[in-house]
Amino acid sequence: MISVEEAQGLVRNGVQPLGTETIALANSLANPGGRVLAETPKARISHPSQTVSAMDGYAVRAADVPTVPSTLTVIGESAAGHPFDGEVSEGQAVLIFTGAQVPPGADTVVIQEDVDRDGAEKNDTISVREIEAGRHIRAKGQDFNEGDQLLIPPLRLTARHIGLLAAADRPWLQVHRQPRVAILSTGDEIVLPGEPRGPAQIVSANGPALSAFVTQRGGIPVHLGVVKDDQDALTAMAEAAKDCNMLITSGGVSVGDRDLVRKAFESAGLEVGFHKIAMRPGKPLMFGHLGDIPVLGLPGNPVSALVCALLFASIAIDRLQGLHGDAPKPVPATLGADLAENGKRQDYMRAVLSRNDDGGWCATPIFMQDSSMIGALAQSAALIVRPMGAPAAKTGETVPVIPLDGLL
Ligand code: AMP
Ligand code: MG
Repeated sequence: MISVEEAQGLVRNGVQPLGTETIALANSLANPGGRVLAETPKARISHPSQTVSAMDGYAVRAADVPTVPSTLTVIGESAAGHPFDGEVSEGQAVLIFTGAQVPPGADTVVIQEDVDRDGAEKNDTISVREIEAGRHIRAKGQDFNEGDQLLIPPLRLTARHIGLLAAADRPWLQVHRQPRVAILSTGDEIVLPGEPRGPAQIVSANGPALSAFVTQRGGIPVHLGVVKDDQDALTAMAEAAKDCNMLITSGGVSVGDRDLVRKAFESAGLEVGFHKIAMRPGKPLMFGHLGDIPVLGLPGNPVSALVCALLFASIAIDRLQGLHGDAPKPVPATLGADLAENGKRQDYMRAVLSRNDDGGWCATPIFMQDSSMIGALAQSAALIVRPMGAPAAKTGETVPVIPLDGLL
C-alpha cells in the first residue's frame, strides 16, 4: 500500500489542466467555487485615474497658509463627477468633496472640520485653523498604474480580485475551463434521496455530497445517478462518463465479490494508477485513467468517500482548473483528549474544535470514528492527522489538524 502523500503526488501528476476560455467579469463568480485566472491581466487605467480628494473640505495651496488662521477666498467647487473648471491661484480655495478631482494648483485638502466659513456663496472666505501640507489627497495611480500587472496566475478568483479587475476596467478575463465531473454512486442497495425505498435499501449520501463538493471546488457535477453492482451496467457507465473531464465513483472498490468497479472499468479501458492506500478511513481508494479522463474510485462509506474527496479529488479538480493541486494544509492544534498509538495507516480522526485561552485551536476527537457516520462527520469541524505509527499522545500535545470549514 502506498502512503497518502505518494498517492497525492500520483493524482497531481496524473491530471493535466484543461484549456482556457474568455468570460465576462460579471460572470466570474457564477459558481461558488469561483474560477481560476489563466492570464496575467494588466491595468487598462490607473487607480485612481485622477488625483482626487480623500475627504470633504477645501482644496488649497499649502504655501498660502504659512500660519494659522489664514484666510482664503472660495472660488468654486469640485464634486465627484463634476470637476472644478479652473485653477487654484494664490490666496484661493475650492470647496471639494470625497472622490472629486483636485483642481490644478492645489496641493492639499483641508478638511471641513478645520475651517470656518463666512457665508455660503462663491467669493466667500474661509479661515483655515489647521493644515498639514499634502494631506487628504489621493495621487493618480497611488493604488496601481495603467499597464501594471494586477494578478499572477494561476489564482482562484474571489470577490476582492474581481473588484480589482473591475477597477482596472477589465470587463473580460481569461480563465481555465470548469471541469465537468461525472459522479456515479454504485451499489444494489442505493437509492437517491426521496426515491421509493425497500427495507434493504439505503439512501445515497455520497452522490449529493460529492456533487456539492465538486461545485464548491469550481467544477460542474454531472450526475450519472446510481448503478447496480453489475459488471455490464458499470462498464456502460464508464463509457457514459467519457464526455466528462473526470469521473468520481463511490462504492464497489473494496475486495468483496460484489466490488466490481475495477474489473468492469478495466474492461472499458481503465488503466489503474494505484489501488489501496495506507490511510483510514479510505483504504480501498482507487485512481486511474479511462483514456485521458482521471477516475477516482472512492469507498462507499460516506466518511471515507468525503475524506478521500477532500484529500484526493480536490487535487484532481484543482489541477484540471490549472492550479498546482496542493493538498489541504494541516495547522497545529493542541489535543483535547488522549490518543492511543496509531497503527500502520495514516488516520484522519474526526474532531471538534474549540479555542484555547491563548487563542489557538484545541481539537478533541469525537467519540466514535466509524466511517459510516456521516452525522458525526457533519458535526465535526476538523480532521486530526495521525501519521502511520504515531506514538500515543496526551491531552495538550500539539498535533496537525485539517479544519473543514470552507473545504468540506
Ligand atoms: P462499498 O464500498 O460498496 O463496500 O460500501 C461500503 C458501505 O458504504 C456499505 O455499507 C454501503 O451500503 C455504503 N454506501 C455505498 N454507497 C453509498 C452511498 N452512495 N451513500 C451512502 N452509503 C453508501
Ligand atoms: Mg457496495
